[in-house]
Amino acid sequence: MSLLRTCSSLLLLVPSLAFAKAPSPAAQRWWSHVEALAGDDMEGRDTGSAGHRRAAEYVAAKLAELGVQPGAGQGYLQDVPLVSRQVVKERSRMALVREGQEQPLTLDQELILSPLTSHSGTVDARLVFVGYGLSIPEAGYDDLAGQDLKGKIAVIVLGGMPSSVPGNLASHYSTPDELARTFARAGAVGVIALPNLHVMEIPWERAVESQRHPVMALAHPTGQETGDIPLFTLFNPAAANSLLAGSGHTLEELLALADAGKPMPRFPLPVSLRGEVALEKSELSSLNVVGRLPGSDPTLAGESVVLSAHLDHLGLGAPENGDRVYNGVMDNATGVAALLEVARVLQEKKAHPRRTVLFVAVTGEERGLLGSRWFASHPPEGSGRMVADLNLDMFLPLTPLQRLVAYGVEESSLAAPLKATASRMGVEVMRDPNPEANGFTRSDQYSFILEGVPAMSFRFGYRKGSKEERLHKEWHAKRYHAPGDDLSQPVDREGAARFVSLLADLTSRVADAPERPSWNKDSFFRRFERPGAPAPTARPVP
Ligand SMILES: [Zn+2]
Repeated sequence: MSLLRTCSSLLLLVPSLAFAKAPSPAAQRWWSHVEALAGDDMEGRDTGSAGHRRAAEYVAAKLAELGVQPGAGQGYLQDVPLVSRQVVKERSRMALVREGQEQPLTLDQELILSPLTSHSGTVDARLVFVGYGLSIPEAGYDDLAGQDLKGKIAVIVLGGMPSSVPGNLASHYSTPDELARTFARAGAVGVIALPNLHVMEIPWERAVESQRHPVMALAHPTGQETGDIPLFTLFNPAAANSLLAGSGHTLEELLALADAGKPMPRFPLPVSLRGEVALEKSELSSLNVVGRLPGSDPTLAGESVVLSAHLDHLGLGAPENGDRVYNGVMDNATGVAALLEVARVLQEKKAHPRRTVLFVAVTGEERGLLGSRWFASHPPEGSGRMVADLNLDMFLPLTPLQRLVAYGVEESSLAAPLKATASRMGVEVMRDPNPEANGFTRSDQYSFILEGVPAMSFRFGYRKGSKEERLHKEWHAKRYHAPGDDLSQPVDREGAARFVSLLADLTSRVADAPERPSWNKDSFFRRFERPGAPAPTARPVP
C-alpha cells in the first residue's frame, strides 16, 4: 500500500504526464478529501478506532471551514455507544454427525462461524433445507410453510430470490435482521447459509476475512432491532455436497433453481450439526459527524433533508501483497468527500435552501448500519423533522457519469426531482441492473427508511455487456472489501465532480420544494411511515 502510493506519486513527476489534461478544481478538491480520509495514516477507519476518530475530526474541521453549523448539540460529533462480540475460534468447534459418526469441520475452510452468532454454548441439532429461508406474507410466499424448525438448524441458499416476489420486498425480508426474526419465530436454533457463488460479490477467502471482525451492536436498543440468531454460519459451497449427501439433492441443482428465480424444494437432511461456540463481549464507542445548514424558510426550516455517507471502513486486516490497510477509498471515502463538496457548492452558490440540510457522516455501517440507526432514532436537537435521506455509499466513479442507478427511485416522490436534475445534466437514470444484490436495504438509507423517511442511494450505472460492466465486475472481484480499494486505483475524478454537482442540485430541489417527499401509494416501505407525526424532538439518550 504505502509502496504503491509512493510509486504513483513519483509517476506524477514524469514529464510526459504533464501533457495530460489538468483536473478541474472541483475534481481536485473532491479528491483531496478522499486522499486525506483514505491515507494509510487513517488505518482503514475501523469503527471505534483512533483512525476513525481522526477521520471524524477531519470531516468536522472541513464542515466548520465551510461555515456549516455544528449539528450534534455542542459540536459536530455525536457519540454512538456500542458493544462488540467476537467468536473465539480456539475455543469453538463444529462437526457434522451422520449415522452417529462425527465428521469434524475445519473452521474457515468448510464452515465460518459468523460473529452474527449471538449465543455461547453447545449445539446439537438436526438440519432442514428451506430454500431461500424467506417468509413474505405480502407476496403469499413462505419457504417455511409446513416445515418443523423447532430446535433445528435451517439450511438456506444466500443470494438469489424467487422471481414471483417483487425485488424490494425480497430485499427487505432477506436482511440479516429479518431472517433472524423469521427463524426465531419458527423456533430454529441456528442457520447454515450456503452462499450462491453465482451472485456472491466476493470469493470465499474474502468472506472468511470479513467474518474475522467482531460483530458490533448498539449498546442501547433503538426499536429497530428484530432479533438474534443463536448460531449463524456460512458453509463453503465448494464443500456443500458433503452437507447435502443422502438428501437426494445437489448444490448445482438448487443453484440452477435459484438462478432461474424458481422456488427451491424444502427437505430434511439426514445429518445434524454438533459443536460448541465461545464468544467474547466488550463495550466501546464511536462517532457520527453532523453538520447543519439551517433552512431559510421560517416554516420549512423545521423540516430537514439528510445527506448521509458512512465514514467507517474495515480497519487493519489480513494482508494482501503485504498490505494490511483496508483504506476504503470507494467504500466510502468518496461518499464522504462528495458530502463535503455538496456543502461547499451550496455555500458558494449562496443557495440558502428553504429546508434545513443535515450533513451526516455515520460510523458503524460496515458493522450493520449502526451509526445511522443511532442517528435516525436519536437525532440531535435542531435536526427537525427529517423528510428525506440521500445516501452515498460506494457510488463507484469508475467511468464518466452517463448513467446513474438510484436505489429506491421506484418507491417515492424523490424520483421527480432526481429525474429533473439528471435530464438537465444529460444523465440517464436507470433501473438497478443487479436487484438480487439488495442495494436498497444494504446501506444506511435503510435506517432512515425504518423511521419512515423516504430515501435514495446512488451508484454509477452501466449497460449489460458493456466495458463499464466489466470494470464494475472487476472492481468487485479485486477491490471490494480488500486492501486494493486504495488510492492507487483508477478513479474518474471528473465523473465524481459531475456527480457532486448533480447531488447539490438534487439537494436544493428537495429542500426547496413546497411539498415534502412522500412514499408512493403502492410502496412496500410506506408501512414504516408515521402519518401526521409531529416534528420530532430529540429522543432522550438512555
Ligand atoms: Zn463496505
